[in-house]
Amino acid sequence: MLSGIVQLFYPRVCAGCGGMLSENEQQVCRACLASFDRFPDAASADGAIQEVFRRNQPRSEDICRAWSLYRFHKNDRLQTVIHTMKYGGSYRLGTLFGRLLADMIDDDFPEEPVTCIVPVPLHRLKKIERTYNQSEILAESMGNVLCKNVRTDLVVRKRYTGPQAGLTLQERRGNVDNAFMVVSDRIPEAVLLVDDVMTTGSTAAAVVRSLRSAGVRIIMLATIALAS
Ligand SMILES: [Zn+2]
Repeated sequence: MLSGIVQLFYPRVCAGCGGMLSENEQQVCRACLASFDRFPDAASADGAIQEVFRRNQPRSEDICRAWSLYRFHKNDRLQTVIHTMKYGGSYRLGTLFGRLLADMIDDDFPEEPVTCIVPVPLHRLKKIERTYNQSEILAESMGNVLCKNVRTDLVVRKRYTGPQAGLTLQERRGNVDNAFMVVSDRIPEAVLLVDDVMTTGSTAAAVVRSLRSAGVRIIMLATIALAS
């Protein structure tokens, strides 16, 4: 009865196609999820991400392992869904993708121990504007499944940067260069870094550099989608 009333006022619709969700679907309908270009396995996702790093970021050796659920294509439904997750106030989408990512990682965890999960931080003013950091929601969801601590106190974004979209590789690098700083003296041994989408890897590489210079030895990366 109560859920019927809630349904009436807050209809559960798919963030991809706008269709009504059935009772056992959450945030995104089964047809939309199936339409996303999913990596066949963890190894091929790792290979694709490492290749992007080798091509665009000279410090690719810094990431020992990487996971991604999907390949991101312009104008597919995944783009709509991720846009809604970042700007549309739908933090629950982050929980959904965090769970899917954690399942992928759980089946494939490498020898190296992950001490904690670190979301790519937003500048504090941008977090106020958007009200939440989508990477933090992802990280928390993953932390719950993988039973790992999420550290949001480790690294901050000290520069307020414009969006990366629409910039060239050089501009992307310049935009995030020295944008991050490690501010805690509790330095973990191994970090699983979490970002929503990776394009050239410039943002991830900038965070990795700051973690490295603070003494983090092992860095892994997880992202919902690889856009390349
Ligand atoms: Zn749908």
